[in-house]
Amino acid sequence: MVAAVRVHEYGGPEVLRVEEVEVPPPGRGEIRVRQTAIGLNYIDTYFRSGLYKAPQMPFTLGNEAAGEVTAVGEGVATVKPGDRVAYVVTLGCYAAERNVPEALAVKLPDGISDEVAAAIMLKGMTTEYLLHRTYKVKAGDTILMHAAAGGVGLILCQWAKHLGATVIGTAGSADKAELARQNGCDHVILYREEDFAARVKEITGGALCQVVYDGVGQQTFAGSLDCLAPLGVLASFGSASGPVKSFDLGVLGPKGSLFVTRPTLFTFTARRHWLDEMAANLFGVVRSGAVKVAINHRAKLADVADVHRALEGRDTTGATILTP
Ligand code: NDP
Repeated sequence: MVAAVRVHEYGGPEVLRVEEVEVPPPGRGEIRVRQTAIGLNYIDTYFRSGLYKAPQMPFTLGNEAAGEVTAVGEGVATVKPGDRVAYVVTLGCYAAERNVPEALAVKLPDGISDEVAAAIMLKGMTTEYLLHRTYKVKAGDTILMHAAAGGVGLILCQWAKHLGATVIGTAGSADKAELARQNGCDHVILYREEDFAARVKEITGGALCQVVYDGVGQQTFAGSLDCLAPLGVLASFGSASGPVKSFDLGVLGPKGSLFVTRPTLFTFTARRHWLDEMAANLFGVVRSGAVKVAINHRAKLADVADVHRALEGRDTTGATILTP
């Protein structure tokens, strides 16, 4: 039996229960992993609250982790016991041990610790596709990133700066704004106090942005459209303030034939060679030092309710790591 954090009914952080669960031997094509570091992500709160539905009840929360392979099932060829791996999966990561499909596991190279891997497999891979596949950011572009001091935010701002973009971020407090500035942002807007669209217009001298990355959702969607230059791209990739309500498609024309996409990481990693390419790109920028991974909070699985409260209360910056 191993410790796992399970949800029996959707709700607030109080529904999270630490329980003992049985892990069967790895089946065909599966590997068993003793997890050493588990990533906390905003998506965990969506599954806990019921905004996203789990396939069954009860279920173990968590989409991102790293650890050591302890056993492999029949047919597994690319990893062996003793290897260090990390992965993004649909649920099941808030646990001391688990089985994972070999097809989803990425072997960790030297220079990427388990803890760093657990902080970037979801947040960093998301950044990879947002900057390289949703819209290809290039030198000279101006981009807007909401919640710039958050988990995805700190990684994306550094990487976008490394690509040569002018990076504008939004942040919920002066401390977060300072952190965002230290992590690639050329300009930071305190969007709880200022009209961020008006400030983007001012900062860019009216030229606006080629792309806006919006993981805040409901509260920022309309303003984000006003930050885009003609033919600009709005990547609405999350709902930290609630899901975006339906909107009038007709507004996109007069604003300059804008593009709006609602991307999800699972589309971009659906083929193994895409997953490998993205992981290699991500590990490359982290190992080179171009992107530094800020693990600003650590907690035990048993204290998971507290870190959920902190994440939803806008009290965290960068990544949070859970350990069994
Ligand atoms: P963050 O660490 O960025 O935390 C969310 C941040 O959103 C908060 O810290 C806060 O920053 C900001 N925020 C704005 N309004 C609210 C609100 N009303 N309630 C709570 N927070 C608010 O989380 P992650 O890095 O884990 O995820 C960032 C976003 O990216 C999430 O929306 C997540 O769902 C999305 N995501 C999407 C993926 C995809 O493939 N589509 C994959 C990974 C993440 P501040 O105080 O500065 O405003």
